[in-house]
Amino acid sequence: MLKVFNIQLLLVLGCFLMDFAQAQVNFAFPIDTPHVLSGTFGELRSNHYHSGLDFKTDGKEGRTVKAAAAGWVSRIKMSAVGFGNVIYLDHPSGHTTVYAHLHHFHPELMKFMDSAQYAAESFEMELFPDSGRFSFLGGDDIGISGNTGGSQGPHLHFEIRDRQTQVPKNPLLFLSPLMDTIAPIAGVLTLF
Ligand SMILES: [Zn+2]
Repeated sequence: MLKVFNIQLLLVLGCFLMDFAQAQVNFAFPIDTPHVLSGTFGELRSNHYHSGLDFKTDGKEGRTVKAAAAGWVSRIKMSAVGFGNVIYLDHPSGHTTVYAHLHHFHPELMKFMDSAQYAAESFEMELFPDSGRFSFLGGDDIGISGNTGGSQGPHLHFEIRDRQTQVPKNPLLFLSPLMDTIAPIAGVLTLF
């Protein structure tokens, strides 16, 4: 009984340490300041939980989107629905970062995508480049923000996933803390 308890304790402790270790990996913000969120991780949407952060882009397309850490492009996709134009970067830390609803990609990625689209005579296209083909350093420009796919307005949808399982993690655990500088305002006071 005592042994079973000890094993359970070790498992719980192990999981805690794994989460803590993962959260120690640093990622940079994928766009420059100001960092204003219009959606956060885990929010309930009509038929799913929101799997990342939505960064506001001043109501416009055209903000530069940057690699959150050094990595290589594992997947790019162009689609009229869902994530629209999206880049997936894999990182040595064991994570994948996702940059969705882009207006367009880095010129080298655009060239790669364009030639595949012309060859297939199709706009909808999903490509999985070899791991060494398109590498970026953290902070490198990888694309331009947009409003493509199922987006309801210009913004950047950003995710951090476990690379192996592709299960999304809470990006706020990996980024510098976002400062909340807006004081709360008391609204309606209800007396019971
Ligand atoms: Zn989103």
